[in-house]
Amino acid sequence: MVKRLILILGDQLSPDIAALQQATKDDMIVMAEVGDETTYVAHHPKKIAFVLAAMRKFAARLRDDGWQVAYTRLDDPDNAGSICGELLRRAEEHGAQEVLATEPGEWRLIDALAHCPLKVTQLPDDRFLASHEDFEHWAEGRKQLRMEYFYRDMRRRTGLLMEGDEPAGGQWNFDHDNRKPAPKDIAFSGPMQFTPDDTVHEVLDLVAQRFPDNFGDLNPFWFATDTTQARRALTHFITHALPRFGDFQDAMLADNRFLYHAGISMYLNTGLLHWREVCEAVQQAWRDGQVPINAAEGFIRQIIGWREYMRGIYFLQGPEYTQGNALNHSRDLPALYWGGKTRMRCMAKAVEQTRAEAYAHHIQRLMVTGNFALIAGIDPGQVHDWYLAVYADAFEWVEAPNTIGMSQFADGGIIGSKPYVSSGNYISKMSDYCKGCAYDVKARTGEGACPFNLLYWDFLNRHRDRFARNPRMANMYRTWDRMEESHRKTVINEAAALLDRLDDGQVV
Ligand SMILES: Cc1cc2nc3c(=O)[nH]c(=O)nc-3n(C[C@H](O)[C@H](O)[C@H](O)COP(=O)(O)OP(=O)(O)OC[C@H]3O[C@@H](n4cnc5c(N)ncnc54)[C@H](O)[C@@H]3O)c2cc1C
Ligand code: SF4
Repeated sequence: MVKRLILILGDQLSPDIAALQQATKDDMIVMAEVGDETTYVAHHPKKIAFVLAAMRKFAARLRDDGWQVAYTRLDDPDNAGSICGELLRRAEEHGAQEVLATEPGEWRLIDALAHCPLKVTQLPDDRFLASHEDFEHWAEGRKQLRMEYFYRDMRRRTGLLMEGDEPAGGQWNFDHDNRKPAPKDIAFSGPMQFTPDDTVHEVLDLVAQRFPDNFGDLNPFWFATDTTQARRALTHFITHALPRFGDFQDAMLADNRFLYHAGISMYLNTGLLHWREVCEAVQQAWRDGQVPINAAEGFIRQIIGWREYMRGIYFLQGPEYTQGNALNHSRDLPALYWGGKTRMRCMAKAVEQTRAEAYAHHIQRLMVTGNFALIAGIDPGQVHDWYLAVYADAFEWVEAPNTIGMSQFADGGIIGSKPYVSSGNYISKMSDYCKGCAYDVKARTGEGACPFNLLYWDFLNRHRDRFARNPRMANMYRTWDRMEESHRKTVINEAAALLDRLDDGQVV
């Protein structure tokens, strides 16, 4: 007789996940590919295939280790279609009343488990450095929740890149060394690619058949789908890309999709890799003299700083966070985000690679697609749904604070002290997109003026009441105010005409 069900979700593929730590071999592990999880947004087919293949391989590994696993495939005729439905079905089948789960990474599922008519215990997910209590404690009494201070605490706590009480290299943050514009050549051919095995092939067939209309290319599929492969991808990155990661972290190239980025976020977010092994391997490479301090520090900051901080904010702010719309933006997401035609080369390239790879690096997400959505005044809820759908690493606890908070300022400034907006100048400096674009990045108005130029100033003008007194934005307003009034009027009129064309579905 089975005592308990142990629930393992698709992003909980860690052998030491909390629910498994407390399980015994008499318990029944439940894993289920269900309709609800594959359709709550129209996920990129590569993302669905990745998660399902990784789940199937993880289940096989558990069975090899002697666990009993009740695994439901998406096309099983008895599939109940939801996580709770599957738990109820398995509970009846095995005579179990009790479920041990690890807390899911989104409020939607936490709530679904809380309302499931079984005795479900949700254990804290301890695969993160900071627990909810740790983050609450850190946030308590602070006027501003700045990532940098949180990060320093995490450095002290882990001892990573520390020399006694001091940061290695004499400073906490080497970001000023990390803003180099796009280089001509990249000496890295991108993340390690894996040939699909039988399990992956089977899943690819299923996904091709079930999700033919979802945005995104299913093939070629090359992601790692188990921990052994993900570790090889990590080593490949550390050896071949990490030494230059820091230098070109913010750069963008039209024909190089990964530059020196790791491409490991989906492995971390599903549990194939653990933050500690990643950071320790990076620290070791620095100790061995293989990578400079600016690269090691920059990378470790992304993981124990930004990644942990984003999770902290998501859980601190609660389920309402995703509905934030501090700037009252309501424009519909234009078709160009789904591959519709656009004359903006930066947007076309960012969307094209998103469609092909289910990947874009941070600056493409923040300063191209995110920046455009923000200055064009697009409904942040629709922007959030888009990011959640199109990236293989998108799980709400990390996607929502990045989109709603960092990128769209829809949380009113909890994450960022000012909005991440820029004119075409930033994109031109950091990328090669503008060469060959139908627009002229130097033109501020008139035929061929870069839309980022028009919309940037229009955004600042529209939101003057909110931002003019922000000391970090005072310079921008001074520059705007120094412009001829006739020029300012032209900018406002041309931006309005551009937005009308966007709303009309015309090619912009
Ligand atoms: C609008 C927007 C949406 C985003 N949505 C997601 C998302 O759904 N899932 C996701 O994992 N990241 C998201 N990010 C953060 C970041 O863009 C990705 O983590 C990164 O691009 C992943 O690629 P990589 O592994 O090559 O990262 P690298 O640039 O090589 O960085 C290394 C690692 O650091 C971590 N990291 C870096 N920046 C962040 C960050 N801001 N927040 C959290 N972790 C970070 C990731 O785990 C990443 O693998 C988003 C950023 C923006 C601006
Ligand atoms: S000119 Fe403007 S629209 Fe064209 S690529 Fe440059 S920033 Fe993008």
